[in-house]
Amino acid sequence: MRFANEPARRSWIDVPLLSDFPIQNLPFGVFIPTDDVITLGSRIGDTVIDLSALHQLGYFEGIELPADVFLQDSLNEFISMGAAKCRAVRDRLAWIFDADNDELKNNEGHRKNILFPADEVQMLMPIYVQDYTDFYSSREHASNVGSMFRDPNNPLLPNWLHIPVGYHGRSSSIVVSGVDVQRPKGQILEPGSDRPIFAPSRQMDFELEMAFVTCEGKPLGQSISIDEAEEYIFGLLLFNDWSARDIQRWEYVPLGPFLGKNFASSVSPWIVTLDALEPFRCEGPVQDPPVLPYLTQTGAHHFDIELEVWIGTPTGSSTRVCRSNTRHLYWSMAQQLAHHTSNGCNVNCGDLMASGTISGPTPDSYGSMLELGWKGERPVALNDGTTRRFLEDGDLVEMRAWGEKNGVRIGFGSVRSRLLPASEIV
Ligand code: CA
Repeated sequence: MRFANEPARRSWIDVPLLSDFPIQNLPFGVFIPTDDVITLGSRIGDTVIDLSALHQLGYFEGIELPADVFLQDSLNEFISMGAAKCRAVRDRLAWIFDADNDELKNNEGHRKNILFPADEVQMLMPIYVQDYTDFYSSREHASNVGSMFRDPNNPLLPNWLHIPVGYHGRSSSIVVSGVDVQRPKGQILEPGSDRPIFAPSRQMDFELEMAFVTCEGKPLGQSISIDEAEEYIFGLLLFNDWSARDIQRWEYVPLGPFLGKNFASSVSPWIVTLDALEPFRCEGPVQDPPVLPYLTQTGAHHFDIELEVWIGTPTGSSTRVCRSNTRHLYWSMAQQLAHHTSNGCNVNCGDLMASGTISGPTPDSYGSMLELGWKGERPVALNDGTTRRFLEDGDLVEMRAWGEKNGVRIGFGSVRSRLLPASEIV
């Protein structure tokens, strides 16, 4: 077991009941304390920890770290130091904040420079995303969409059970939780028409996804094998892959997603390390037909992480519309990464690879409005008495994720963003 994961450890920092951030989590993010400089941070309970202040005050003594490694506006440089260094930092944090260690606890002057209430800081985009790839790894989601867009009797295309299908997305429009997202405009083919119009999307949707952040990969031309793949995964975050279904439906043939997807994706601010998620490993679904040898793996390479989507309406009411779990994914992250590099494609530190919408087997576990409302045919009832076929202007979409085992809950916080009306500028 990793030192920082010790389930019996308690922190001298208060951790509220059902907090996503016990001392066993210690995620990494980027924040700006009020009127101060941008710094890397971690979190326990509702307290955000300034890692550069900790470093300046000597709390990482004995771990060789560049002086400015935490004084950055992204985690990329920190992650690029390699897994051993990142682990040493996380383990040290576990000790600094252990209830049995009163060094910082009893130093009020230091505490004032290091600790901040979570609601008083601004969280920023945690990584500089050089490349973003979106997979399509939920069998239930792929079957539901195939059934609606193409053929209900044959919803999966012949390649789907052999290839972790994916496409290269747009990294420039990935934004952190809290940044509002504007309804896009685009070409839409109205029912019964054979010519498109240009208008604001009428079928705005979310996609419930998890994404993993890569460490520095191998040089161009080399592949990361299935057995090595998890060593190249730093951590995970929640990913809302906003989608305009009407734009998507008209444009996606033959080259796949484009403007129906690339206007925005939102991420949660804290990267939960793969190390912290160790206790939640589980086996994935049986893959039948068997996959090719370069994708074959045995053992527990999936993760049991609960997922929820909530829609808040302009009236202030909030409704949970989806409950799913990452264990429903057909393809593991290791399979996605091994496949991605199987042709020699290189990955960089801080690349983002999203799972694709994570739908489960039951209608209340579908991870998009397209599926929950079955392309608008079965409107979703909300707690304030209204219904939704797709998202409306002013709706606040919030996704949450956590694993829970042996009394320890490791969570992601949330990704929470409001949908704004389309711009009036043509
Ligand atoms: Ca997607």
